[in-house]
Amino acid sequence: MQITVVGGGIVGCAAAWRLAQGGARVTVRDRGRIGGEASWAGAGMLAPGGEFGEDSRWGRLGVESLGMYPAFVAELEAASGLRIDFRVCRRVATQRRMGIRVEAMGSGRWWYPDEAVVNPRDVVAALRVAGQRLGVEFEEGVEVSTWEGDAVVWATGAWAPGGFPVKGHLIRYHLAPGSLPRIIRRGHFYVLQRATGETIAGADMEQVGFDRSLRAAAVEEIRAAVEAMVPELRGVPVEEAWNGFRPGSATGEPVVGRRGDSREWDAYGHFRNGILLAPVTARLLCDEILPSLGKG
Ligand SMILES: Cc1cc2nc3c(=O)[nH]c(=O)nc-3n(C[C@H](O)[C@H](O)[C@H](O)COP(=O)(O)OP(=O)(O)OC[C@H]3O[C@@H](n4cnc5c(N)ncnc54)[C@H](O)[C@@H]3O)c2cc1C
Repeated sequence: MQITVVGGGIVGCAAAWRLAQGGARVTVRDRGRIGGEASWAGAGMLAPGGEFGEDSRWGRLGVESLGMYPAFVAELEAASGLRIDFRVCRRVATQRRMGIRVEAMGSGRWWYPDEAVVNPRDVVAALRVAGQRLGVEFEEGVEVSTWEGDAVVWATGAWAPGGFPVKGHLIRYHLAPGSLPRIIRRGHFYVLQRATGETIAGADMEQVGFDRSLRAAAVEEIRAAVEAMVPELRGVPVEEAWNGFRPGSATGEPVVGRRGDSREWDAYGHFRNGILLAPVTARLLCDEILPSLGKG
């Protein structure tokens, strides 16, 4: 059974690893670098409490995927031999959302105790090695429009037909490691810290097509917003700024599933939550693809 995964972001790489575990021969083809687009740019907040406003299928899947993360990371570290910067860091809840565990912290305030942060670049690097150890082939610099084999997964992110890019900038400071143990968030602006002390802040949202230019006003807007939330950042230099393209979809929700009764599956449209949703998306794809090809 030969499966082609088009798109080597976190969604395609997670699917490839799980499909290979299920016994498939998998090739991942990316027209750029593996993990070189949104999955490189993303901050890595695993925070469904701040992302899904109502009780929806993808809201529930977001909570489920968050619950999958500790075991996913542990399994991936063991399978790849690589470390993944992952940390559960409960966050103050501004409101109670359905389906998400909250804990009282006194004075009428609440925590989301399960929310976490992960470095998505670590995850993709580990998925690549873990996949290779199971025989997954990764090809870079290969634009795919047609495919061969038993099945294909189109995990082409913002480039999916029917999808569109929503550009966002992030900026990076450096603080003492451990100085920011939680995600600090107000609206769409947030700050989180990696184990190294790299402190990542974002993010704006713009629909300007695939324009990769760095917009100084966006960087300034993020800087002002997060320095108002975290006074310790004032006067600390911004060491790096970058942007990426969140994969939008017409419905505002991920599109994950089979195209009719064809042997083609879509997996795109994860928008602001593709890092969070990668484990559950890989499971959904495996649950459909492997039985349909006589595995699983
Ligand atoms: C600024 C910013 C902050 C974010 N923060 C978070 C966050 O905190 N938490 C979270 O969960 N998510 C976050 N996200 C969203 C998350 O990064 C994305 O949802 C996720 O990375 C999407 O993964 P993907 O694999 O679908 O897409 P991508 O990583 O973009 O991968 C798609 C790949 O497909 C390839 N491709 C496209 N067309 C073709 C083709 N025809 N042939 C071959 N290859 C092709 C591309 O080269 C690309 O590598 C953020 C995104 C941005 C931009």
